[in-house]
Amino acid sequence: MLDVDISVQDLVDALPAGVVLTDTDGLDKYRWDRALDPAAERPMAAVRAESTEHVQVAMRWAAEHRVPVVPRGAGTGLSGGATALAHGIVICTERMRAISIDPTTRVAVVQPGLLNAEVKAAAAAHGLWYPPDPSSYEICSIGGNIATNAGGLCCVKYGVTTDYVLGMQVVLSDGRAVRFGGPRVKDVAGLALHKLFVGSEGTLGIITEVTLRLMPPAPPAHTLATWFATTEDATAAILDITAQIRPSMLEYMDRATINAVEDELHMGLDRTAAALLIARTDSGDARELEIITAACERHQATEIYSTADEAEGELFVAARRGAIPAVEKHGRLLLEDVGVPLPRLPDLVAGIEQIAAARELTIALIAHAGDGNTHPLIVFDPSQPEMEQRAQLAFGEIMDLAIALGGTITGEHGVGRMKQPWLEGQVGADVLDVTRRIKQALDPDNILNPGAILI
Ligand SMILES: Cc1cc2nc3c(=O)[nH]c(=O)nc-3n(C[C@H](O)[C@H](O)[C@H](O)COP(=O)(O)OP(=O)(O)OC[C@H]3O[C@@H](n4cnc5c(N)ncnc54)[C@H](O)[C@@H]3O)c2cc1C
Repeated sequence: MLDVDISVQDLVDALPAGVVLTDTDGLDKYRWDRALDPAAERPMAAVRAESTEHVQVAMRWAAEHRVPVVPRGAGTGLSGGATALAHGIVICTERMRAISIDPTTRVAVVQPGLLNAEVKAAAAAHGLWYPPDPSSYEICSIGGNIATNAGGLCCVKYGVTTDYVLGMQVVLSDGRAVRFGGPRVKDVAGLALHKLFVGSEGTLGIITEVTLRLMPPAPPAHTLATWFATTEDATAAILDITAQIRPSMLEYMDRATINAVEDELHMGLDRTAAALLIARTDSGDARELEIITAACERHQATEIYSTADEAEGELFVAARRGAIPAVEKHGRLLLEDVGVPLPRLPDLVAGIEQIAAARELTIALIAHAGDGNTHPLIVFDPSQPEMEQRAQLAFGEIMDLAIALGGTITGEHGVGRMKQPWLEGQVGADVLDVTRRIKQALDPDNILNPGAILI
């Protein structure tokens, strides 16, 4: 039987002073991510690693004692992927913040603790651009982005995180540090193992460095804010647009979200509209603007506001980025991330509205609409157990609906712990079996983030 206290002291002693946190108050910070999973427990310790070697020391200790390890970046995850375990430790990469940029190859080599916004800023200082832009880009880490294969607002045109990952260094469950891929634009030597770790949610290894492809600077964008009296008109306009062009942004907010954001920002959003679309084109081709405008007019847009002014356009984008914190002011959230093939988007939106009505709940809806990726935000009052139960039922019904429509239970946030029970329903038993075999090969003692993705 493991003597937990003595073992943790061994870990404390093996690393420089201040790296391993064991005081109970401080450990609460490492207990939950933004999903606020009720099952989260206070971990035995949090290792605030400052180097790959620190991660290796902690992993070797955990492997020796078979102690579960929950990897953690900035803790903004929305699926309970960084939910801590009482009999485990957290290895957090928040202190690993180095970056170097090679403008010739157009790559950045980044430690995982740097925030997405800091990677963008460092690239911009060299006249370059790192596109993936989760709404949380100012508060989430690049390591967390890789581990969840994060999406965002510009992904409809520019792709998601994995499209920018050329290589990485990973500490495996036995403490070995391995490099996959690297700063080579073309490289097909062996299996593309770095891709296996993108979206692996801390279940296969701990990412301690990543090599990212950078782009030339983002071109100037023209922004349209378009209002609709019905959600059916709005979703029809989305399909009309995506059938013709690939905008650089196509975001959706429903009435509940518009009102929550307007309560916070007071920017004159139309509170009576059923839906707001925020579309952008950055191709410099005037026909794209005409196509978006004509599609919105064809589907009875009640107002179309169009601006080439970047700062003004950014105000609408900021309104969309502020949606989750704004809706959070109205209660606790169960936050979904379901997506469908684009032609099924109207069915998904209508189905979510029906579930909200049947369960007598507010389900605010935002979407990276151009990707068919929606975030139903189920609002409930945690002091009302019966309401919380209805919210839990709606949470499952929405994922069942997405699966029935040929969609996914998660487009960008990951399965984590909170969506794990629905994974087999989407991918099937054979895919789950392959996933288990890969996990078994890389983490035979199941110490890396047990309970995330797989039980
Ligand atoms: C307001 C708000 C808006 C958001 N908008 C978006 C959005 O538009 N698009 C989007 O994709 N997400 C969005 N998110 C979710 C979240 O920000 C992303 O999932 C982000 O990628 C998580 O990064 P993090 O550093 O906070 O990771 P964490 O929450 O700390 O961890 C997330 C997962 O990654 C694993 N992990 C973290 N670091 C490592 C590492 N170094 N090695 C191995 N595994 C690791 C963890 O174990 C966990 O499973 C939003 C969140 C909030 C709060």
